[in-house]
Amino acid sequence: MANRVVPPKRILNNFHYNTTTKPLNSPHPSVVVPPSILEKQLSPATTTPHSIDLKSSEKLFSSVSNSTLLHSSAVLHATAMGPMVDLGVWTMKSKLFQTGVLKDAMMAVTRKTFYKHFCAGEDAVAACRRIRSINEAGLRGILGYGVEEAHDNDCCDRNLNNFLHTVDVSISLPPSSVSFVIVKITAICPMALLERISDLLRWQEKEPSLKLAWKQDCLPIFSESSPLYHTQKRPEPLTSEEENDLELANERLQKLCEKCVESNMPLLVDAEHTSVQPAIDYFTYSSAIIHNKDDNPIVFGTIQTYLKDAKERLLLATKAADNIGIPMGFKLVRGAYMSTENTLAHSFGYPSPIHATIQDTHNCFNDCSSFLLQKIANGPGSLVLATHNIQSGKLAAAKAYEIGIRKVNHKLEFAQLCGMADALSFGLSNAGFRVSKYMPFGPVEMVMPYLLRRAEENRGLLAASGFDRQLIRKELGRRLKAAIF
Ligand SMILES: Cc1cc2nc3c(=O)[nH]c(=O)nc-3n(C[C@H](O)[C@H](O)[C@H](O)COP(=O)(O)OP(=O)(O)OC[C@H]3O[C@@H](n4cnc5c(N)ncnc54)[C@H](O)[C@@H]3O)c2cc1C
Repeated sequence: MANRVVPPKRILNNFHYNTTTKPLNSPHPSVVVPPSILEKQLSPATTTPHSIDLKSSEKLFSSVSNSTLLHSSAVLHATAMGPMVDLGVWTMKSKLFQTGVLKDAMMAVTRKTFYKHFCAGEDAVAACRRIRSINEAGLRGILGYGVEEAHDNDCCDRNLNNFLHTVDVSISLPPSSVSFVIVKITAICPMALLERISDLLRWQEKEPSLKLAWKQDCLPIFSESSPLYHTQKRPEPLTSEEENDLELANERLQKLCEKCVESNMPLLVDAEHTSVQPAIDYFTYSSAIIHNKDDNPIVFGTIQTYLKDAKERLLLATKAADNIGIPMGFKLVRGAYMSTENTLAHSFGYPSPIHATIQDTHNCFNDCSSFLLQKIANGPGSLVLATHNIQSGKLAAAKAYEIGIRKVNHKLEFAQLCGMADALSFGLSNAGFRVSKYMPFGPVEMVMPYLLRRAEENRGLLAASGFDRQLIRKELGRRLKAAIF
């Protein structure tokens, strides 16, 4: 992981404050627990002499200007109003708003509100400005060109150029401003081919005698409990045209990895849905074997802990990486494709691959996090803990302190999405950990699918951002009182 020096904290003029944190230990995932209760819930089990402080809004938001705080409060409250989000989502998707004056008006409103809140900017220059400002607040950026799926080679080539440009932009910034760059494999390899490769990999898992001539060395992709229902019958081998496209996709990824190696800029590979995830893992692990050397993982895979087989797969992959002597980097997330997974499994008549209860997901995330923390403390490898969940953040911070992993240790990075869970980001950073914000950039129209996912994730008064909204309200009230009296 790139280990560069973070500039000292300064008062932040331009940092765009925003937070959302889902409630914890709530009997229903959509019930907001007030911060006071939350703190009590967490205290007995997780408070250590080193636990992170999320009580003092003054300390947490000391680097956030009044105007930014007000803007964030307005956006978060708007996204908390279900009907408002429904209207926004309808407008963004509606054909009525796809052309002409209505489109321009909708884009202008989106740009000034949700876009400004959740994204880094429309181009590299704007993204750089934003990264500099969060860096001044002690945080780093994970820079991602906000592109979605590609369906042909031309589109994949264009996307690759943008990913390469993102690396150039990242290294043009002051050292340590950017901790990682992002790649989505679905943007550099056509979707249909990813599905075909995933089918073939699944069939080989069912029938190990199946020979795949194109397959390179990689770490285990499946465990014994991995669902294979997506592939109902033996797939045809790749055609020569598909093999050619696979070679092109592989060349794109290798070009990007080589650039990252030259720049010492680690590359995070995002995880997506299980229809294509085996192919994504295949690309990730085969590239990691080539490019991850010594104790410097360049290629990081993502494990989605909402999947029932996540822990088993993680154990198999880390063991195999140890056996061949490569340092592996992992980003740990809960997972963002729940409804797609449930619908797909249901359509095949199989149980969902996602844990039956949210508590099982929490347990799996915390288990995998604890396992990886212990592992990186004792040997090679790096970890990105990508979560907005306060309890997971606190547990991991306590464990990291216990086993001696601190800010100076470049093997651990906490990460939250831009526009979400800033209180947790600042709390972890104040406690001495390295923290990054995931900053997608690109034209408003292009990042619209990303914005729709964020709007959906934060939808509803009771569903999201309650903890942060309350902290912001408290801080705005405190500042108002201080100004009056
Ligand atoms: C930096 C960063 C990078 C990310 N990269 C990826 C990525 O590459 N791929 C990806 O898929 N996601 C990614 N995510 C999104 C992430 O997976 C989550 O969607 C999001 O962060 C919410 O999870 P949380 O850990 O913040 O936990 P919480 O805030 O506690 O959210 C928990 C949510 O998980 C859902 N959930 C999970 N399991 C269950 C279950 N069994 N029953 C009911 N609900 C359940 C519910 O919606 C629930 O509200 C990333 C997130 C961050 C912060």
